[in-house]
Amino acid sequence: MSSRWLDTSLAYLKGIGPLRAEALAGELGLRTFGDLLAHYPYRYLDRSVVLRISDLQPGPAEVQVRGLLTGVQTVGTGPKRRLTAQLVDGPDELELVWFKGLRWVEKGLPAGEEVVVFGRVNAFKNGLNMAHPEVERAASRQAAASGLTPMYSSTEKLGSMQLHSRGLAAKVDALLEDPSRDRSDWMPEGLRDAQKWPRRDEAVRTMHHPESPQSLAAARNRLAFEELFLDQLLFAYQRLQQGRGRAGHRFASVGSYLNRFYEEVLPFPLTEAQKRVVREIRRDMGSGAAMNRLVQGDVGSGKTLVAFMAMLLAVDNGFQAALMAPTEILAQQHARSLEAWAEPLGLRVGLLTGSVKGSARKHLLADLADGSLHLLVGTHALIEDPVVFRNLGLAVVDEQHRFGVAQRARLLAKNRPAPHMLVMTATPIPRTLAMSMYGDLEQSVIDELPPGRKPIQTLHRTDANRLALWSFLKKEIALGRQVYLVYPLIEESEKLDYKDLMDGYESVCRDFPQPEYQVSVVHGRMRPEDKEWEMARFARGETHLMVATTVIEVGVNVPNASVMVIENAERFGLSQLHQLRGRVGRGAEQSYCVLMTSSKLSDDAVTRIETMVRTNDGFEIADVDLQLRGPGDLMGTRQSGVMEYKLANLVHDGPLVEWARRAAARIVDEDPQLERPEHAALRARFSDYARGRMAWGRIA
Ligand code: ADP
Ligand code: MG
Repeated sequence: MSSRWLDTSLAYLKGIGPLRAEALAGELGLRTFGDLLAHYPYRYLDRSVVLRISDLQPGPAEVQVRGLLTGVQTVGTGPKRRLTAQLVDGPDELELVWFKGLRWVEKGLPAGEEVVVFGRVNAFKNGLNMAHPEVERAASRQAAASGLTPMYSSTEKLGSMQLHSRGLAAKVDALLEDPSRDRSDWMPEGLRDAQKWPRRDEAVRTMHHPESPQSLAAARNRLAFEELFLDQLLFAYQRLQQGRGRAGHRFASVGSYLNRFYEEVLPFPLTEAQKRVVREIRRDMGSGAAMNRLVQGDVGSGKTLVAFMAMLLAVDNGFQAALMAPTEILAQQHARSLEAWAEPLGLRVGLLTGSVKGSARKHLLADLADGSLHLLVGTHALIEDPVVFRNLGLAVVDEQHRFGVAQRARLLAKNRPAPHMLVMTATPIPRTLAMSMYGDLEQSVIDELPPGRKPIQTLHRTDANRLALWSFLKKEIALGRQVYLVYPLIEESEKLDYKDLMDGYESVCRDFPQPEYQVSVVHGRMRPEDKEWEMARFARGETHLMVATTVIEVGVNVPNASVMVIENAERFGLSQLHQLRGRVGRGAEQSYCVLMTSSKLSDDAVTRIETMVRTNDGFEIADVDLQLRGPGDLMGTRQSGVMEYKLANLVHDGPLVEWARRAAARIVDEDPQLERPEHAALRARFSDYARGRMAWGRIA
């Protein structure tokens, strides 16, 4: 809620004034009382921990050191003038040095006394030193020296205005002592009590002056939860609004297409996970509100089939359905899968990509416009203006992370009212991240692979094992299987990568000679037609080995391929390694993934490789990826300001995110207008928050 007190400019805080207020705004973005109170300490110094000089190591953290203060003297002249002193503890010495305010500092130094100094330890010449330490008499500090002292981030400029950590602490304390300070709490009591969290006021105080690690944790959790909760509340309203605003298609009837497909065409039973997700989709599409659903499922979990069944539901209700894929190869493959299922039902599947031109394109567009074509698969060619549907009832987006929000929106704009939307991703996103990134979507997870698949065995090898690897590959080929050999492709060193690939290709050709062995090669420099042709040869089983860059990452489906060798595997990210591995293990035979690396690996690379060897579970891998890279990097949103929380941490606060999401959904469900008295304060706070993020007016 907009509170007068919290919104008061810092210029009005005693001892700050306009000049320092401007510096605080410029340096740290702190403008109001509320801002400064939310400038939480970055760490706490335990005043009871006092080190001996012999324990010291140079480092960025401030520490307390005890010793005898001796040898105070001014040295140098002009700008090199400085004050030095020695802290002595038996044979150990620490040099103390000041460059500014020499005379004033010198006056206050209790030379010859036992002191405790506080500051950062630097390596200096052959020893250690501390610049501008704070110095206290050991005798006089004993009583006061208990508890945790907050350390605030500051800047050099602010430091020169007495607003270093200690100066900021004093200003924060002044706010905490202000009798007129804002003590309101907008969090509904029920929410707070359920977690035994402190009131807001108390939580903020605890953040600055924790009494114990436990009370600090509770305060931090409560305030981190607030950040997540406001976001999740916004998402909950977005979901509500999208549903309401886009009502129109109620696909209530399961008609003959879906029934016939299920009973006569489907060659295998659905997995339980597939059944569950199909049920979720049917419920959405039959509800009268527009569906907005994300389906996550590991590679090979059978998402395409689920999408197809949703598409049949649209057709059964007299509508068209479209599936958009990020690459031409993938679109073609989807078209083929869908055709195999649709043909027995007497349904046609159209394929629209950039390379469909001339009269073929004209006919396709005509059939689409008059409704004689029910199912369309394509690349982003689908969202171009000339593509007009008669009545698009469902839009499916595959590999959703490769498309932008704008592209999704253009697909939705293909019909009025907008079609149901189903987005699919095989790049598992950790649940907490998905809830924050795609919080506006309902979420389904296919967490089960079709039966009969043998888990892929993953091995880590180095060049020393090359001969053994080659003979293993020859054995697999002799059994009738096929092999992928993948080389990295990193944009900055495209030339080098190309050379690696071609060197690799040549040595493979030497070691796997014709005519016994046929080797394909596919890379980004080839013309699309040539790529297609090579891939098709491999898919038909005419070649034994496919040497390629990561262009094969998406979409190639060759069930007969049983070995994936990844060269320079240390140069790949986890999700990419997992995607590549997913190219094998699609048939009934045992499949293998061999990660070739050099013998020297960074810590991160070791973690990536070990994770791949340990598990096939895409969600577990995604979690490790999140830990290694952090949410911003993982989702490519580092620059965009998404998910920049002050306290909440998507890596560690999974349970808080879940709880925030559930709590938000419940409140929106039970009291969508936030009219109940216990929600009055929340309503005010949220309207403030939402105003910054979207038009609250449309909700209220
Ligand atoms: P995804 O897109 O999730 O990576 P696909 O939809 O391409 O996976 O499915 C992978 C393979 O598994 C396809 O050949 C598909 O026909 C097959 N498949 C899908 N569902 C099942 C099932 N329930 N039982 C057996 N095979 C299935
Ligand atoms: Mg797929």
